[in-house]
Amino acid sequence: MTQDTFSQSLWSAISPPGPELPRLLGEETADIVLVGAGFLGMNTALGLARAGLKVVLLEASEPGFGASGRNTGFVVPTLKKALSPSNVVARFGTRRGEAFNRMIGGSGERLFSLIRDNGIACDSEQTGWMQPAHSRAALAACATQVREWRARGFDVQLLDRGETEARTGMTGYHGAMLIPSGGQINPLAWARGLARLCLSEGVRIFAGSPVIRLARDGAGWRVHTPGGSVVAPRAVLTTNALVGKLCSRVDRAIIPTYSFQIATQKFDAEIQARLLPARSPIADSRRHLFAARWSSDGRIVGGGLVYPGPFRLARTRRRFEKRFARFLPQLGQVRAEYAWFGTVAVTLDALPRLFRLDRGLWAPIGCNGRGVALTAAYGHELAQFFAGNTAEEDFVVPVTQPEPIPMRAMATAGPYLWLPYSEYRDRIETEAPAE
Ligand SMILES: Cc1cc2nc3c(=O)[nH]c(=O)nc-3n(C[C@H](O)[C@H](O)[C@H](O)COP(=O)(O)OP(=O)(O)OC[C@H]3O[C@@H](n4cnc5c(N)ncnc54)[C@H](O)[C@@H]3O)c2cc1C
Repeated sequence: MTQDTFSQSLWSAISPPGPELPRLLGEETADIVLVGAGFLGMNTALGLARAGLKVVLLEASEPGFGASGRNTGFVVPTLKKALSPSNVVARFGTRRGEAFNRMIGGSGERLFSLIRDNGIACDSEQTGWMQPAHSRAALAACATQVREWRARGFDVQLLDRGETEARTGMTGYHGAMLIPSGGQINPLAWARGLARLCLSEGVRIFAGSPVIRLARDGAGWRVHTPGGSVVAPRAVLTTNALVGKLCSRVDRAIIPTYSFQIATQKFDAEIQARLLPARSPIADSRRHLFAARWSSDGRIVGGGLVYPGPFRLARTRRRFEKRFARFLPQLGQVRAEYAWFGTVAVTLDALPRLFRLDRGLWAPIGCNGRGVALTAAYGHELAQFFAGNTAEEDFVVPVTQPEPIPMRAMATAGPYLWLPYSEYRDRIETEAPAE
């Protein structure tokens, strides 16, 4: 296994430092203890502190160390196309399904408001998120999503071919879905800003404090780290894909999926004005989707899954350099000056979960590849729930027990093994738009 790449990301290079945080030493008490300072743990902690609870947040490394500090920073207020609002209602029923849809549809606005209202510097740009369509069928699927969101009062737009070309500077797409409330941020700067905001609201965050054991303590839980422990009536695991042996029941219920990112060399203002001039990040409709955005310092950032496995950074770098040069010929020669990877907790249906593991022990997980916006909204809902303001039957997702993923080893290899087939299907399905 190669060494971890957290410090090799563009975000690590350009983000302001996070707050100085102590390690946990000795014993602490709290009303609720959360494990994992990613977006979900911090958004939940923030809501709980604002509701007046005494909150401790324990982080193995530093805030944003997991997927939250390494992602592409796309703010995407929708789920994948198989989870259109009507599909969600079909799964959850009308009451819960529509509450869930309101959470998703409003997640971009919630995130950007939180950033704006608290003056957090994280290069946030509410420039809309776009899904360009690579085929007529894909455009029809976008049209369905647009219709469904608009019927629920959300501003989601269908762009024609010309409008798509004008916003992206790219030819070959049939049109696109545009969600104006989406956009992009620097995710690590947001994670660090959010950590400061949590501290200012009274959350006690301990970094460098990996939780190694959970044990019952009277009616509550004692959460052990190497330097000390926290006792609280309730413990919440917000560890996402990095849960590992801490709770193998949760680990077996998700598929940890590696996603790679590169950031290219810097490009001048002239290219930035021609390519993605609207500065909306794009993630197209291909099975092996093509995703790209500008960073604040003029680099193209993007990535995805890479066959054949997680730890081949040099090879991955070359593969993405070629992919970017092929999709974005305006860039000429592409050089990946930064390359890194992160791990996403994927659920089989791409929906988030709230697991009740035991009395007072919880694990919300599974924001999949949508956690930038979703965690702001889901964290708020979780805080309302744990603060006692939302009843279980009214919660946005059903409270469940973790179910082991059948044939997990195969399911874990699945996305990489399917990649060549997905690319093949993308090639035969891609059609040039009619002149
Ligand atoms: C490369 C990549 C690109 C992505 N791009 C996007 C995107 O553009 N848009 C989007 O919406 N989503 C994207 N995602 C998904 C998004 O990043 C995640 O959904 C989101 O960050 C999940 O947040 P989280 O708080 O649940 O998990 P994490 O950010 O992974 O946080 C979990 C935290 O728990 C800590 N932890 C784990 N175990 C312990 C322990 N035992 N003790 C203490 N602490 C522990 C970890 O150190 C970590 O800090 C991407 C993900 C990756 C990896």
